[in-house]
Amino acid sequence: MKAYDVIIIGGGPSGIITGVTAQKQNPDRSFLMIKEEEKELVPCGIPYVFHDLDDVSQNKMGPAPFVKAGGEVIVDKVTDINIMAKTLRTSTGAEMSYRKLIFATGSVPIVPTFIKGYDLENVELIPKSYDYIAGLKDRILSSENIVVIGGGFIGAEVAEQIAKHKNKKVTLVEIQDHCLGQAFSPDFAVLADKNLREIGVRVLTGNTVEELIGSDGKVHSVKLKSGETIETDMVISAIGYKPNTDLAKRAGLPLAKNGTIRVDKFMRTDEEDVYAVGDCSQTFGFITGRTDNIMLASTATAEARILGYNLYKIGILRTFSGTLSVFSTELNGYAFASAGAIEQTAEADRVDYVTGSFADVDRHPGALPGAKEIRIKIIVSPKNGEIIGGEIYGGKSIGEMINIIALAIQKYVTVYELVSFQVGTHPLLTTAPTKYSLIKACEDAISKINCIQQ
Ligand SMILES: Cc1cc2nc3c(=O)[nH]c(=O)nc-3n(C[C@H](O)[C@H](O)[C@H](O)COP(=O)(O)OP(=O)(O)OC[C@H]3O[C@@H](n4cnc5c(N)ncnc54)[C@H](O)[C@@H]3O)c2cc1C
Repeated sequence: MKAYDVIIIGGGPSGIITGVTAQKQNPDRSFLMIKEEEKELVPCGIPYVFHDLDDVSQNKMGPAPFVKAGGEVIVDKVTDINIMAKTLRTSTGAEMSYRKLIFATGSVPIVPTFIKGYDLENVELIPKSYDYIAGLKDRILSSENIVVIGGGFIGAEVAEQIAKHKNKKVTLVEIQDHCLGQAFSPDFAVLADKNLREIGVRVLTGNTVEELIGSDGKVHSVKLKSGETIETDMVISAIGYKPNTDLAKRAGLPLAKNGTIRVDKFMRTDEEDVYAVGDCSQTFGFITGRTDNIMLASTATAEARILGYNLYKIGILRTFSGTLSVFSTELNGYAFASAGAIEQTAEADRVDYVTGSFADVDRHPGALPGAKEIRIKIIVSPKNGEIIGGEIYGGKSIGEMINIIALAIQKYVTVYELVSFQVGTHPLLTTAPTKYSLIKACEDAISKINCIQQ
């Protein structure tokens, strides 16, 4: 039986980054990655395979940096683990032993088993599988009418990309009042609906799919709660993902209520020398510290670096006490980004807050070519002025602006500190120095706090 110091199960972003980071800290140890799929995709790039990228091969990702750092990779599926004996077995019958084991088994799409007809042919999912996505692209290209179920960021991005093809009719059905409604307050989320409509998607919000109707095993129409029936060649379900933790459960690892593998701040499970990282591991909300369900590659890789640096000894302390969920996307050329609390989550968690808002254009003067509207809203604690969340809508630059807000939240920066925040500005790149959007939003929050205190 071959023996390794460290075995990583999974070759997604968290497996790769844990492997590279840990291998660099421990060059004398033997590392093995066991990954199920021969070819891996950049998961976040999947929607763009359907239009903006010519071919799925342009969205490939792999463990080359891990191999370069000295790691070994085999393509196989881990089927059984004996935690006491520190051994595992794979689907090809290989057996090996480890000193440390890392679960990076990720997440899988939720199958809409609660919708009648979910198992008909042409009812598709968005799995992180190279071959499936390559085939799905072909099937999309040969379909005309497509219904997407779910207006979260994956459903919205997929619908937007398909609608860019001239000959497609795309309908998106979303149960909430707006698309992206879990990451944005209604006044921002309504802009997601607007941009999707402008690019040609028929957006049906506040509606649900009741039944998928088919003949000869293939779906041909979708019945909605509103009573409408839509003819379709294909249905794409994008209703969310669940942690891929069956293997961990079978191995006897304790899971959190939401099915993720229970871990501490350094990604250590309840079993010694067993770790979990990325979508399969537990996350803790930034404000409440309660178990949260955040599945983002940015979160997964932040956890992977924490684990990679601390695998043998805690050396680099985790610098945040909870997971922020920094989220961004682009629809119809407009970017949406949020971090930390939004009004709905603050209210649900009974967190006292005020908002600070500002709207402008992202160039100065606004008449410059390429200028785009920018809207910003921050969520602030009225007691001490700490920034606990933010949302931005606008051009591409907001993809990095949200990262300033994310850092401010993590470092407990207050609106009082940010009014003297030193920024760089340029006519072609930013709003004017006289009205830098984030500073203006802080000023707005301060005046609201002042009103409360008077
Ligand atoms: C369409 C789409 C768009 C997204 N866009 C964004 C975005 O814009 N920004 C963002 O931050 N996040 C985005 N995400 C989320 C992001 O993809 C995930 O958070 C990320 O993939 C998590 O990485 P991971 O390594 O933990 O898990 P995964 O990427 O799920 O990787 C897990 C790997 O483990 C392998 N595996 C599982 N079980 C076994 C086993 N028994 N044996 C061997 N191998 C196994 C799987 O085959 C898989 O390759 C998107 C996700 C999707 C699906």
